[in-house]
Amino acid sequence: MRIGLDLGGTKVEAIALSDTGEELLRFRRSTPVGDYSATVNLVVAMVAEVETRAGAAASIGLGTPGSIDPVSGLMKNSNSTALNGRPLDRDLAAALGRDISMANDADCFTVSEGHDGGGAGAEVVFGVILGTGVGGGLVVNGRLVSGPNRVAGEWGHNPLPWMWPDEAPGPACYCGRQGCVETFLSGPGMAADHARRGGPPMSAAEIAAAAAAGEEAASVTMDRYHDRLARALSGVINIVDPHVIVLGGGVSNIESI
Ligand SMILES: [Zn+2]
Repeated sequence: MRIGLDLGGTKVEAIALSDTGEELLRFRRSTPVGDYSATVNLVVAMVAEVETRAGAAASIGLGTPGSIDPVSGLMKNSNSTALNGRPLDRDLAAALGRDISMANDADCFTVSEGHDGGGAGAEVVFGVILGTGVGGGLVVNGRLVSGPNRVAGEWGHNPLPWMWPDEAPGPACYCGRQGCVETFLSGPGMAADHARRGGPPMSAAEIAAAAAAGEEAASVTMDRYHDRLARALSGVINIVDPHVIVLGGGVSNIESI
């Protein structure tokens, strides 16, 4: 049996797969936001729950926002900022009493989509995560391109291109810059954009539902979102010209995106 865990900004999802790839069980828990120790404890508890319910020990793979810096061995670039600067892989291995495989969540997503998903059979696949954060991954000829700094595909912290005067310099980002793509195209980024234009506090899903129902302000927010997504991805296309771009993450489930 194999256990896969997706450590997201709002939820942690676990799946158990048999040796032949059949799904044995799957469940979610809420991420303890801003609490590193509680996050480690939750992952350990979820592994224990899977193994109890499935009745077998397993190898463990974990997808995370951000990545382990190859020089320091510490997490970096995670929009779940409580993980940054922490040796997450080593802390989990110590708590679980065994080694785990860990990789950037957008990289995991892109490898999966390139293998048997939306990018299956394509030479160059760019995977996009539009969720609590904005990430990306690059797969060429079925192999992940991660780069010496482990940041290949991280378009979420490029600046939004061709900003209009009323967009510049853009919202502050946890990375220390302003106007990163993530600050506009993440779910919280869309919600904040709607609020800045005078809209009531609404989640990205609520804004999309209101727009689909014909509500004017929500429709205009969605129009801005679509335009920004196209602008931001045009920079990716100019550099890597992928055969397929696959969208994933909660915001990508919105019909118009
Ligand atoms: Zn940033």
